[in-house]
Amino acid sequence: MALKEFWQFVALGLVAALFGMVIGHVKTVLLIFVLGWLGWYFINLFKLERWLEQGKKYSPPVSYGLWGHIFTEIYHMQQRKRRRNKKLVKLLSRFRESTAALPEGVIVLREQGEIEWWNDKADELLGLKYPQDVDRRLTNLLRNPEVMEYFRSRDTEKPVRFPSPVDEQKILSLKIVPYGNKQKLVVVRDVTLSKRVEEMQRDFVANISHELRTPLTVINGYLENLLEDDGAIDVEHLRHTFKVMQQQAIRMRQLTDDLTTLSNVDNEKIGPRREVVNVPQMLSSLQEEAKILSGDSNHTFVIEVDESLFLRGDPKELDSVFTNLIVNAINYTPAGGAIRVRWYHDDSGAHFEVNDTGIGIAPYHVERLTERFYRVDVARSRHTGGSGLGLAIVTRALQRHQASLRIDSEIGRGSAFICDFPEEIVVQKSDIMPPTPTSLSG
Ligand code: ADP
Repeated sequence: MALKEFWQFVALGLVAALFGMVIGHVKTVLLIFVLGWLGWYFINLFKLERWLEQGKKYSPPVSYGLWGHIFTEIYHMQQRKRRRNKKLVKLLSRFRESTAALPEGVIVLREQGEIEWWNDKADELLGLKYPQDVDRRLTNLLRNPEVMEYFRSRDTEKPVRFPSPVDEQKILSLKIVPYGNKQKLVVVRDVTLSKRVEEMQRDFVANISHELRTPLTVINGYLENLLEDDGAIDVEHLRHTFKVMQQQAIRMRQLTDDLTTLSNVDNEKIGPRREVVNVPQMLSSLQEEAKILSGDSNHTFVIEVDESLFLRGDPKELDSVFTNLIVNAINYTPAGGAIRVRWYHDDSGAHFEVNDTGIGIAPYHVERLTERFYRVDVARSRHTGGSGLGLAIVTRALQRHQASLRIDSEIGRGSAFICDFPEEIVVQKSDIMPPTPTSLSG
């Protein structure tokens, strides 16, 4: 276009020169021609300047030839840039949205460790403040010796753990991922839960070995005595020895049985069976067993059962719940005490309640009672053959039936353990069995 403009200028210049020759004023005509051309250029330059100053929203000034072409080209360039900017803004907001949805905190650091950018989760976990914390060093903000050491060390493969500066109870894990041109990406995660699970697993194994060690030590002690004893063996003494060993073996059996039950109710993959369970019948046979277990303690039993109230659930798990609560009431109620078992229905669903007039539990123990191996009085629990897993099994089995456990206890007065079953799993006897025909009279 510029070349065309040049040839136009040359051609029109020649025409002007010819015209000047005809009228005898070549120089004057050429001067007027050049000035006119220059004037046209200035007019367009002014237009261009004004248009650019006014901003890109206005459409380009009207012009012709090279200038018209320049205006249109600039206009198209602006349009292209606008479209690109729009796309970028969209992309940026999508990026912000996706980083905000990330479950991990992400922080971008410059070469020297200054913070360049972070997402919302990093804000929540580390309490970073915008814009104050931009360009500050992350290690200076966190002020944690382990994190400092981790940043100094060359091996950043294994993340470092430290308490959250926002909430001391939360444990965070931080890992550096190098990327780009000497930049670093820091990924922060909340690992409180997994740390707790790790601790629980460790405690669990320690507890089991501790529980097994005592009976095994006792059995081993007796066996050593028997082996060392080279004199005549007194039959009475032998019987006593075997009895003690048998007690210890029963204790270990109880523990392994409880562990198996716990692992069954803990299994997320295999849900509880869903069949109609005749709870009144189950409680009736439990009552018989309870009386035998109570033995010489002579507890008074009061059983109030709604005979029409059944449940939809796993018979084994429900039996485990009821048995554990009744056996506990027997074990922790001194001789002559009363135990009341109720199975009833109200507006909120079905309830299984065991009340006793036993030793009771102090409030600070109540909240920890359902933890595995938690016992108020370890010696007493061991004496009654308890493994400390009973209430853990109860709560887990109840959870699997969308039910929950309430504990109401007062030291020295007794306890109430109440299982609340939701209406969804309650089955009325009349719903599954046709009413027995009444005798026809007349
Ligand atoms: P254990 O096998 O020791 O009975 P549980 O998990 O069944 O284990 O119970 C945990 C602890 O709760 C018991 O060791 C005991 O201290 C307390 N406990 C449970 N039931 C009662 C109750 N009815 N009265 C008093 N204390 C109870």
